Amino acid sequence: MDVWWTEPVTVLKGIGKKRAEAFERLEIHTLGDLLNYYPRTDSYIDFSHLKTIRELAVDGSQQIFRGELMNVTDRYSPRVRQYSVVLVRDDTGYAELYFFGAQRYYLRHLKPGMAVVVTGRVKPGRSAAKVVSEATITPQDEETDASSPGILPVYSLTESLTQQQLRTVVKQALALAAEKGLPETVPASLLQRYRFPDRLTALRNIHFPASAAAFREARRRLVYEELFLLQCGLMLNREHNYDGRSGVNHDRDGALVKQVLHNLPFQLTVAQKQAWQDISGDMEDVKPMNRLLQGDVGSGKTVLAALALAKAAENGYQGCIMAPTGILAQQHLETLTSFFRGTGVRIALLTSNTKPAERREILESLADGSLQILIGTHAVLQEDVQFRCLSLVVTDEQHRFGVNQRGRLAAKSDFAPDVLIMTATPIPRTLALTVYGDIETTVMRGRPPGRKHIETLCYTGDMRRKVYEGMVRQIRAGRQAYVVCASIEESEGLEGVRSVTEVYEELKRTVLHGIPCALLHGRMKPAEKDGIMEAFAAGSVKVLVTTTVVEVGVNVPNATLMIVENADRFGLAQLHQLRGRVGRGEHQSYCVLLTDNKDPDTLARLTVLHNSDDGFELAQKDLELRGAGQLFGLRQHGLPDLRLADILKDTDVLLKCRKDAQEALSKPDLRKELLAGTSNLFDSRFAGIFNS
Ligand code: ADP
Ligand code: MG
Repeated sequence: MDVWWTEPVTVLKGIGKKRAEAFERLEIHTLGDLLNYYPRTDSYIDFSHLKTIRELAVDGSQQIFRGELMNVTDRYSPRVRQYSVVLVRDDTGYAELYFFGAQRYYLRHLKPGMAVVVTGRVKPGRSAAKVVSEATITPQDEETDASSPGILPVYSLTESLTQQQLRTVVKQALALAAEKGLPETVPASLLQRYRFPDRLTALRNIHFPASAAAFREARRRLVYEELFLLQCGLMLNREHNYDGRSGVNHDRDGALVKQVLHNLPFQLTVAQKQAWQDISGDMEDVKPMNRLLQGDVGSGKTVLAALALAKAAENGYQGCIMAPTGILAQQHLETLTSFFRGTGVRIALLTSNTKPAERREILESLADGSLQILIGTHAVLQEDVQFRCLSLVVTDEQHRFGVNQRGRLAAKSDFAPDVLIMTATPIPRTLALTVYGDIETTVMRGRPPGRKHIETLCYTGDMRRKVYEGMVRQIRAGRQAYVVCASIEESEGLEGVRSVTEVYEELKRTVLHGIPCALLHGRMKPAEKDGIMEAFAAGSVKVLVTTTVVEVGVNVPNATLMIVENADRFGLAQLHQLRGRVGRGEHQSYCVLLTDNKDPDTLARLTVLHNSDDGFELAQKDLELRGAGQLFGLRQHGLPDLRLADILKDTDVLLKCRKDAQEALSKPDLRKELLAGTSNLFDSRFAGIFNS
């Protein structure tokens, strides 16, 4: 079969090598990628809604008008740095369009006197001119001319591409699709059942809607298609990983579990006891456990992992716990070693830093079964790590592992091992089902007694200096501190965001002069990160200037202060997880949220943290305030990002797709049709989950 859609975009007219690079930055490599690069959902230019500047609604909804470009002025402010203001006028008035950061590149193609079409949201301005934010501006051409009504797409672009260029090549690609044909990915019976338009029609109408109704139909089909393919891919993936193996039924709690309980320096809380009932019940069942243990930071999840590992060991099996970083794995080793003291159970740690001789010995004792508990990082996924009888897989802070990684660990057993996933992020049910399959959930509310309240304060930038002076006082008193920033590099283009490197350099020159501090971010090598974390844990580094990489369960009891720069950039649940890094020792701890955003809503949102200690409550607030899309990226689960569907808003469709996918895969002829469709999968995003 002629798979024209895998050809590079350079086969199209007007895309040379140089321009192809610009497309690559949008992750558009092939013709298929291009067709799947949907326009921005809320920015279509619908000429039936065209208004004059005077008529523009100032209610924050999407507006469209036409006018003459007067001038472009570059401005500078210390907070947002470079930005540009474009002045457009028509017979009824003036409008000011604001462009920040990388968006300003679009403006290079504009000249005074040009006729332009503008979309955006209008706010009341200080002057007579209307103020337009989130604006797009397109020079008027034949397409946007008044004589051609209809609806035009607006794409998200990088610097060197224009809307017209993208529209032209998408049109070419659509013409090619019409000529060469486009395979279906959704079985015909389902297309019929839901009266979906065929694929080509849907793509045509998502890019160049013939009417508002045609657009809605196209969108309805493509949302379904995304979720359906995702479900099918996940189900095939699971079949592949768990096929044919039976589970293990562990006996009722025995001597080892009792001994670990006895070794704990505390009593289990009610929540922990209930969680243990769920977990031990699952482990005693021959059906493999697949359980998500959700509990706020500090709710005491580790104990449950320890009990489950004890249960596996006392039944003669092995257990493995995987943590996302070396330092977390090291902390688990220390905790578990103390919980298992006097039991004779062997525990080992395997990371990428493990010395070859030690590694060899670990692998041998795993293979002969004499090692019962393995703690590790991604290093445990390597091919040559083989267990003799693995019956339990625990992953900690799961959202840092992908679907395939989890599958690979579970595949290391002759049985279908019991799987326990521990997370501090409250994950909505639909998302959990999507990401983890048929999973049971245990939620641990509250915290064990004895944890200290973290004093949380919120200040605007004018207090910055005072806040940092406070930090120096903490350090003089022998404590340590975190400074958390929202971005790694300035070039990430977020307006007004101080990058971690910038903050680090500045602090080192000023308030922290002479105080040992270190920089930590996600683009460093794992070994380098671990080294820095260890130095901080050991106390030789006093201040850690970092990004959200510290979010995951690091434990440094001597750290008593966390300062978050540009705090408005974070979600409440995320800030709550971050502040969980302090307040772990005997000293009173503080979390200071700094923001330059004086918007009353923003400040109100941040003060919620001052008043609440409950991660689950905060996550709920987040959902209400910020919407679902922003909070849960699929990519961090190793899944393709969705372009049109919203896992939380499109719950109904998602559940329908789950059922349809199950049905399609269980009926031989449907399954064949589906696999044929996916084997020449058109959308390369999904190739990863289908081919694993
Ligand atoms: P997380 O759920 O964030 O992984 P941990 O398992 O690290 O939480 O537990 C946080 C702290 O609470 C640890 O210091 C642990 O020893 C302590 N802890 C756990 N369970 C109890 C309990 N039942 N009573 C008192 N302290 C507890
Ligand atoms: Mg933990």
